Amino acid sequence: MSSAINTVRRIAVGGALVTSLAFGFGSVSTALAQDATPGASPAAEATPTVVEPVQVTLTLIGTEGQVVGVARLTQEAPGAEVLITVTNAEDSGLAPGEHGIHIHEAGVCDPKATPPFDSAGGHFNPENGHHGAPDDPNSHAGDLGNLTVKDDGSFLLQTTSTRISLYPGDKNSLADADGSSLMIHEHADDMHTDPSGESGGRAACGVIFSPQPGAMQSATPVTSPQATPVG
Ligand code: ZN
Repeated sequence: MSSAINTVRRIAVGGALVTSLAFGFGSVSTALAQDATPGASPAAEATPTVVEPVQVTLTLIGTEGQVVGVARLTQEAPGAEVLITVTNAEDSGLAPGEHGIHIHEAGVCDPKATPPFDSAGGHFNPENGHHGAPDDPNSHAGDLGNLTVKDDGSFLLQTTSTRISLYPGDKNSLADADGSSLMIHEHADDMHTDPSGESGGRAACGVIFSPQPGAMQSATPVTSPQATPVG
């Protein structure tokens, strides 16, 4: 497991460059999936691929653009589980209690969208599942259940997923054409009801991977069958 948490990491994976700044309150990160087709170059020119761990650090912003929290996703190799850690900023502003938390299918967090963060599309759902609990194999791959916010507004979620990948071109990769985002909702997720477990509006959003150039023009997630604007 990597111990490089508070350092700037530049990781080249299959042609993609992921740059993350320090994990901490108010940190800024960018994640650029510049080339999601490793192996596209002719085989004759191929050099042995060194698989490096991928770490993505992101800031979750609220509907006023304020910093709500930070998250970190790490994966040691393609096919390995993804470790997910989500924690609050100094003042999260989130109401105490349970809040649905999901990976959404597009990497666009626009608080000025109508409704806020509608730009992120529906739940990441490459296998056309039904909304549910994270341990249900038929649920959306992006369903992460609930985040518990304490009375003082703090929260810490540490979980893993074997149903997503941070490697471009890998099965269920979050580094796909339209990118991906992490979303915290206003209300608890009942972990059953389509499309979003009755978890209400979108309270905080963070970009995991930005869309590739031009991706959002040809494919508009908010109108795709998997992207229901509610929730
Ligand atoms: Zn879902």
